[in-house]
Amino acid sequence: MTDWTRPIRDVADFPKPGIVFKDIMPMLADPVAFAGAIEAMAAPWRDTEIDAVLAIEARGFLFGAPLARVLGAGIVPVRKPGKLPGRVLEQRYALEYGEDALQVQADAVSPGTRVLLVDDVLATGGTLAATRLLAERLEAEVVGAEVLIELGFLNGRARWNGSAPLHAALLV
Ligand code: AMP
Repeated sequence: MTDWTRPIRDVADFPKPGIVFKDIMPMLADPVAFAGAIEAMAAPWRDTEIDAVLAIEARGFLFGAPLARVLGAGIVPVRKPGKLPGRVLEQRYALEYGEDALQVQADAVSPGTRVLLVDDVLATGGTLAATRLLAERLEAEVVGAEVLIELGFLNGRARWNGSAPLHAALLV
């Protein structure tokens, strides 16, 4: 199998000084690499019953949708404020500087729905932790989380305090 990680490139000082940004765009544009990435993300969950993928805006959508199809699940977008109509649940979370928030539709899933959380990069873990809280407020059953890339040196995994598994297709 070809190495799907090869087209991913590091971009220094983006979007601000000191950040090494994982640019996944060349990997997405490469049909063989993209297929390899989706396969690597799906593999740990093939024997797990999953009703819905909770995909995190924006790059999480790019992986959440194909994963949902491969795993036979639906997809529920977790979005930045102001994008979803109707009643929404909101979860605020701390950023390095300031605060951000994520929303999900309050009726997105019924209680007990088995959900897998999906994003592109696990950095400090705040985004995934906020999404987990939203899933819990929906009374969904969180079966786990899948990210394409885990930045191990930031130890975001420490914020995933739960029994459900967190898997990264690529640990750097
Ligand atoms: P965090 O909440 O710190 O785990 O940040 C995760 C979110 O920020 C993900 O949705 C990523 O899209 C984005 N992100 C954080 N750090 C990076 C990075 N070095 N390269 C690419 N995306 C990143």
